[in-house]
Amino acid sequence: MQFVLTSNSITSITRRVTLVVRVNDERPMPELTFTYGTMAAGKSTLALQLCWQLRQGRSDVALWTFGDRSDAGMVTSRIGIEASAEAVVPGSDLSPHIERLRRDGINILVIDEAQFASVEQVDALAQIVDDLGIDVHAFGLSADFLLNLFPGSARLFAISDWAHELPLTSTCWCGQKGRCNARVVDGVVAREGNQLFTGDVNEGVVHYQVLCRTHYRSGQLRAEVSMDRIVVVDADPEWPSQFQAIAAYLAPFVEPHVVRIEHVGSTSIPGLAAKPIIDIDVVVANEEQLPEVLRRIESAGYRWVGDLDVAGREAFEAPEAPGLPTHHLYLVVENNRAHCDHWLLRDMLTEDPVLVDRYAIIKRENAVLSQGDVERYVALKAAFVAEVLTTARNTRGMEPVTYWEPNLD
Ligand SMILES: [Zn+2]
Repeated sequence: MQFVLTSNSITSITRRVTLVVRVNDERPMPELTFTYGTMAAGKSTLALQLCWQLRQGRSDVALWTFGDRSDAGMVTSRIGIEASAEAVVPGSDLSPHIERLRRDGINILVIDEAQFASVEQVDALAQIVDDLGIDVHAFGLSADFLLNLFPGSARLFAISDWAHELPLTSTCWCGQKGRCNARVVDGVVAREGNQLFTGDVNEGVVHYQVLCRTHYRSGQLRAEVSMDRIVVVDADPEWPSQFQAIAAYLAPFVEPHVVRIEHVGSTSIPGLAAKPIIDIDVVVANEEQLPEVLRRIESAGYRWVGDLDVAGREAFEAPEAPGLPTHHLYLVVENNRAHCDHWLLRDMLTEDPVLVDRYAIIKRENAVLSQGDVERYVALKAAFVAEVLTTARNTRGMEPVTYWEPNLD
């Protein structure tokens, strides 16, 4: 957890504490104050600080908590400070506690974990203020992990003389203001469950994490671990028809200037696990055709992005519309180096199920190893691709070429 503690926040805390001390020395109208925030925003710390500061020189300050899990009567803060406190059972009758306040001549009552107080208990707190003239400073969460107000907090908002948001703010992992106390169960943001979770909420299977609204909604608990970005899935029998759909869309724009529109890449190989992205070569007969076809592809809504460091191909970003499957489009001259690499790999693997299995294993491993770095993912499988292409050229009597063998240290 992080705190954003600005000089303004410090000033604000100090001013409030000073105000409380001054106000109570002069005994003006007593007040019910509710100070709320998210988890880990320093509620208990501030409650303890207020208590400590007030007790310098006066003995009429009491500390209660509605959320003492240990029943030991302590308020403890996450930064390690603590003080003994009177543990009040949520929903219980406050009379004996109120009687003790009277007996001890208490004028200021500080309360931690006030969100757990019942509506009736909050009403009784208001009565303590109005009838006994005791200042009550309640600290608590506003809302639960489903973003519903705690009944006690809702009542406090309704009847407190003052409601302040804590000047300290918990932040989401993304740096935005943390608005939401997410309950995380087995690594997933819980969307249902009891408002009160009884049990140890520290590390274990269930814990709470403060998130901004966006990441509460999406359930993202940390910066993207890029593994998610390279997804290798089982072969999908729909891939060939997805290719057909894209080819059917593109054909009217480029015919009759092209030799063919060709399905290449892993999705063109039956049974091969792959990233679910269709690779397509638009093949022209010679280099002279390139500018015309390039322009025609652009007129179909594609954006030309150059060769992306692979000589002999022109790459395009696919248009958003019109509901086309995700794909990469390349423009190549028939049987140039880039085109040969594409169809040789496809044909070699299509003819050899053993190679398909080997390649699938390598891809899945690499998707994890590359941690979402696409360049590294490609580099990690380069050795396998080079081996297959070298064999392909040999067996077809084609001229040998050198393949890229990246250094992977
Ligand atoms: Zn966020």
